[in-house]
Amino acid sequence: MTRKGARQREWTVAELQLLRDNAGKVPRRELSRMLKRGAGSVKQQVYRMRAQGEDITLRCFRSRLSTCPACGALRSRMGSEGICEPCRRRRQLAKVHERISHLLAQLPPDERAVYDDTEAETESSLDPMPPPPPLVGLTAYERERALEAREIAVEDWLARNLRRQVKAAQKRKERIAKKLK
Ligand SMILES: [Zn+2]
Repeated sequence: MTRKGARQREWTVAELQLLRDNAGKVPRRELSRMLKRGAGSVKQQVYRMRAQGEDITLRCFRSRLSTCPACGALRSRMGSEGICEPCRRRRQLAKVHERISHLLAQLPPDERAVYDDTEAETESSLDPMPPPPPLVGLTAYERERALEAREIAVEDWLARNLRRQVKAAQKRKERIAKKLK
């Protein structure tokens, strides 16, 4: 019996491992080059592995996240300063806190104590962190996508809480400034 593809070279254990390690991570063309096999041969082998119940795909997940140069976290958006919103808000918050300490230092000690107490209140009103996604039953591709969605949810959560903290700190700063007039 002679048919197209019948004389294909057997897949070695090492080649199969290389395929498992890189499928869905490197583009198809690159994978073919690494394995020194044609696109059809690679596709057929993946098809066979899937038929045997392996969670393998050639479909590459393209993340739209990039690394923030300031905090090193994976973020979906960088602002005009080239850093993520949580980083920008943290810097903003630090500046307001610095201004508050400066103002507090000018208050008499007994009045200062009143404003120190309100500090703790703003910390307690934070939203709970988004839960990790359920990954059971997902394919490798779907898992990557779910994990990326979680990263974005955490980024939004951080930014939201920091915006709230900045707002609370600014109000506090205004109250203290008024007291000093
Ligand atoms: Zn950052």
